[in-house]
Amino acid sequence: MEKKIVKDILFLSQVSQLASQDDLYLARDLQDTLLANRETCVGLAANMIGVQKRVIIFNLGLVSVVMFNPVLLSFEGPYEAEEGCLSLVGVRSTKRYETIRVAYRDSKWQEQTMTLTGFPAQICQHELDHLEGRII
Ligand SMILES: [Zn+2]
Repeated sequence: MEKKIVKDILFLSQVSQLASQDDLYLARDLQDTLLANRETCVGLAANMIGVQKRVIIFNLGLVSVVMFNPVLLSFEGPYEAEEGCLSLVGVRSTKRYETIRVAYRDSKWQEQTMTLTGFPAQICQHELDHLEGRII
């Protein structure tokens, strides 16, 4: 179900908690909300739809990937990026990495790892920051 986007900075500044299998329903809510905002949005963290759990979604080509409890394993190729955020006004500059490797659980609660490069890697890093309460 599509959810309203949270813009409360105090709420968004809090660190999200580990997700459990009880939170698997969030995959659908994140997908629906991303789809509803597809003109302006390429990724979401669960706290942006009001749930402070470690779940993110981002576009990877034509599909979207949902990650539960994602952990950044490695990163390389730093660069300065300009980013916007659905929860914030304007564009800010931030440091990102060209290639990252992430461990996570998928929506069947299976352990996975994924290597990302370029734009999907950038979106993923932006959403990982949201889980730590870091908003650019
Ligand atoms: Zn954001």
